[in-house]
Amino acid sequence: MISLKAREAHPAGGKVTARTVLITGGNRGIGYALAEEFVAQGHRVAVTARSGEGPAGCLTVTADVTDGASLDAAYALIEAQLGPVEVVVANAGITRDTLIMRMSDEDFDTVVDTNLGGAFKVVKRATKGMLKARFGRIILISSVVGLYGSAGQVNYSASKSALVGMARSLTRELGSRGITANVVAPGFIETDMTAALPEEQQAEYKRNIPANRFATPSEVAKVVAWLASDDAGYISGAVIPVDGGLGMGH
Ligand code: NDP
Repeated sequence: MISLKAREAHPAGGKVTARTVLITGGNRGIGYALAEEFVAQGHRVAVTARSGEGPAGCLTVTADVTDGASLDAAYALIEAQLGPVEVVVANAGITRDTLIMRMSDEDFDTVVDTNLGGAFKVVKRATKGMLKARFGRIILISSVVGLYGSAGQVNYSASKSALVGMARSLTRELGSRGITANVVAPGFIETDMTAALPEEQQAEYKRNIPANRFATPSEVAKVVAWLASDDAGYISGAVIPVDGGLGMGH
């Protein structure tokens, strides 16, 4: 089911270099669409999730991104089955929205530990192999609200803007070794995360988005897959918005 050929024909007709790709949070939403896209392009794909499964054609490994030991075990399994991770997409994320006056320390810590600490733990484990291979693609899934700000999301927005500093520092540390590190900042995407918002709020958000709609997860996946491709080898430390114009490129 998983192709191990070095180069695969892309369904669109071009050629892509098949890579070992790890996506966190690949059992639903954006992560699931990312896995589908990478599988369709002929890559060897592993997803982590705390529950459930990634799409057909990928290896699903149970792991919690806040738990270093479970990530160590996940990496050992992925490396044994698919080889060293060449592309890592830190996608797993959560929200615990409320106004700052009501936000508990735990609401803050849990979101930061998952969205920021989880990205750090996942990326760190990929870098050894990337340095050895002198190739790597690190892609951190942030959010438009990381730089735009959002009332009721002090924890989430802080965790997402911090990913920009992480990608830029990784770029400075690892850029000379063929490794790129970029941030993708989606706007509102049709997933469980946005479905949880009250309808009135969804309509209000759409009024403020120049594209006047939410995006599909696949629209994020295409951009991430391109950033992981050979064509994007000279892009690093960038924040790529996929937000229908909401953040105006920040
Ligand atoms: P979903 O809520 O649909 O899915 C979240 C994913 O993250 C699930 O796979 C979940 O796994 C995983 N996850 C959460 N916590 C952990 C953890 N501790 N360890 C391992 N996996 C975990 O989210 P989306 O698909 O909507 O979002 C994906 C990413 O995109 C997130 O980082 C989010 O912040 C970002 N984003 C989303 C936007 C949107 O509009 N949807 C907009 C901008 C950014 P499990 O099911 O096992 O808990």
